[in-house]
Amino acid sequence: MATVHNLGFPRLGRNRELKFALERYWKTKIDAAELEGTAKQLRADHWKLQAEAGVDIVPVGDASFYDHVLDASFMLGNVPQRFHDGQDLPELDQYFRVARGRSVRGEPRAAGAMTKWFDTNYHYIVPEFDDATTFSANPSRLLEHLSEVQAAGYRGKPVMVGPLSYLWLGRGRTDDKLALLPALLTAYRNVLDALAKAGAEWVQLDEPILALDLDPEWRDSFATAYQQLNGADVHIMVASYFAPLQDNLAAALALPVAGLHLDLVRGRSDLETAVQQLPADKVLSLGVIDGRNIWKSDLGAILDLIEPVHATLGERLWLAPSCSLLHVPFGLQDETAMDAELLAWLAFASEKLAELHVLATALQQGRQAVASELADNAAARAARAASPRVTNPEVQGRVAAVTAQMAKRPAVYAQRAEVQREALGLPLYPTTTIGSFPQTAEIRKIRREFKKGAIDNAAYEAGIREQIAIAIKEQEAYGLDVLVHGEAERNDMVEYFGEQLQGYAFTQNGWVQSYGSRGVKPPIIFGDVSRPEPMTVTWTTYAQSLTKKPMKGMLTGPVTMLQWAFVRDDQPRETTTRQIALALRDEVVDLEQAGIHIIQVDEPAFREGLPLRRADWPAYLSWATETFRLATSGVQNATQIHTHMCYSEFNNIIESVADLDADVITMETSRSNMELLEAFTEFKYPNEIGPGVYDIHSPNIPDVEQMTRLMRRASQLVPAERLWVNPDCGLKTRGWDEVRPSLQNMVAAAKILRKEDS
Ligand code: GLN
Ligand code: ZN
Repeated sequence: MATVHNLGFPRLGRNRELKFALERYWKTKIDAAELEGTAKQLRADHWKLQAEAGVDIVPVGDASFYDHVLDASFMLGNVPQRFHDGQDLPELDQYFRVARGRSVRGEPRAAGAMTKWFDTNYHYIVPEFDDATTFSANPSRLLEHLSEVQAAGYRGKPVMVGPLSYLWLGRGRTDDKLALLPALLTAYRNVLDALAKAGAEWVQLDEPILALDLDPEWRDSFATAYQQLNGADVHIMVASYFAPLQDNLAAALALPVAGLHLDLVRGRSDLETAVQQLPADKVLSLGVIDGRNIWKSDLGAILDLIEPVHATLGERLWLAPSCSLLHVPFGLQDETAMDAELLAWLAFASEKLAELHVLATALQQGRQAVASELADNAAARAARAASPRVTNPEVQGRVAAVTAQMAKRPAVYAQRAEVQREALGLPLYPTTTIGSFPQTAEIRKIRREFKKGAIDNAAYEAGIREQIAIAIKEQEAYGLDVLVHGEAERNDMVEYFGEQLQGYAFTQNGWVQSYGSRGVKPPIIFGDVSRPEPMTVTWTTYAQSLTKKPMKGMLTGPVTMLQWAFVRDDQPRETTTRQIALALRDEVVDLEQAGIHIIQVDEPAFREGLPLRRADWPAYLSWATETFRLATSGVQNATQIHTHMCYSEFNNIIESVADLDADVITMETSRSNMELLEAFTEFKYPNEIGPGVYDIHSPNIPDVEQMTRLMRRASQLVPAERLWVNPDCGLKTRGWDEVRPSLQNMVAAAKILRKEDS
């Protein structure tokens, strides 16, 4: 008997029912009862689906209305002070106020900060701690869900973020967060007691920080914390995922709990130690199916690995996906447009559960009991490996022939800068934008109708050209120095390029929750990547033909292309990125040849690609910077390469950012009052910098004085000759009525600065 359990299931629903219900609720089109009804139905459907797929123990409490970390904050009574005026509001309104800053009832407030969940693209609401923070147990929702699952007749296992990870993820009181632990544990203990009383058999506490580099103080806190929770009359399963536990493994194995879950996909190296050192009274749950990717598993190879473990542990071995299935799409049943060959290689959440069932059956009854399933699986894997669609000898030959020289501009920055100054003739404090202009209803309509086939190619092109012309007219009117075409043809900076590259596939319904009601449909990189023809040259040269000002070409960088996709598991990420880089290199050279002398290659995902463990950083940073340079170094010295990163945390990676050797980097700084630039100054960042002066996440219009002040501060840190003036990021989410005055003010600010400095 090998128990199969699941750590979490996609929440939004097969047809994103929860998303639409949430958005209707926020617009007051439906009431709370209807929203609750939709969510309840989804829970019931998802438990049924999981149980029927052979999951013995289904997760309870994973089906959040917005985010599971925010659920934990509510369950622990940790609602930030600024929301306390809403204590008498219905709980759902209070919840959405924290999640989104507003709800149907209650005054708007600054929403809880949102940040990425470890190295995924899922965003959680950051817990807040301050001197007034207290905790109290408020498990009513979880208890309600537990009673639902019990009534439905399934074995349910409440899941929540564990206490150490909860503390670690929160902000505020950073120096003494652990001082909050005793009070926090009391609240956790009360939640556990309530669950035990309600008949919970197991509770899963997620402690993904066990996969991080932990200070001894944090590592040691696990033992004390779980000692205190151990008294509850319920079995605790501590779950960790996303990386091996390594130096934290011994501490995890020694915890006074009933079970430990390990990610066997990414933490394979922990297995031998875990099996050897597992105390005799503990369950070991192995996350054998990849919860982060969409490929069919190699079931034979997994069985080779776990059969001996099963022989040793017997019933104490449980099987699970590596992590919550939140990070993969719901199921393949609605991918009706995907070709059969590709479809046969994939497994989304529903199919992954079926794989687990095959594995459990094989352990229980021997491989012959599932011989045909195993044969089908092996055949699908073999077909994928042998498919001519996966391998392109030409691309592989090109990658093999990459030389160090190719990832280097002909001259160093100082020399390039002189040539570029001469060639471009830009003023001091040149002004530019980050690429996109407002994505108006009209633009979206043109794209939508073209996709539907309602308008033909000629009409589509004419429509987009008209939008490009509008963007250029606006920019000329403001007096910007370096213009952009506005990205009207792109709905997404990765999808747009992926659709034009070989080796990429797209789903119809492969939604993955990004935050709240929002989902993304990551492309699937299944084969060697190549560029059959230029992707942006026509639009960019058309834009250039409309103005005498320099036009900046706009591409998405190799690391971001990789990071925001489901990637191949049959070759290193590095190799896939290098292929993308070569395709982009051709585009960069083609743009140059077409007369575009400023080219921006966006890398907003550069930082989030950092591995969870410090020891793995140097290797990542080395290939990430090298592939960027490979993409951008095919041009002459006179061609100016820009990059853009829309965040403001460069500590620890500043040297690598310099290693990109972009002539200009633009980034988000307006909110941090240029503090970020200090990292660049201390390190003596050698190239040009455009620190954002316009916070594009806010509807506010920055005035001239505000932006002048920010740039004056910047010029104390970086010599004026190396400064650019620009917004924090692209403007696609803003309206023209906001963008117009903001950019007019920005240009006015640049003029004041030039006068002051001359
Ligand atoms: N060029 C892109 C834009 O302006 C950059 C987007 C991003 O940084 N995320 O929209
Ligand atoms: Zn950005």
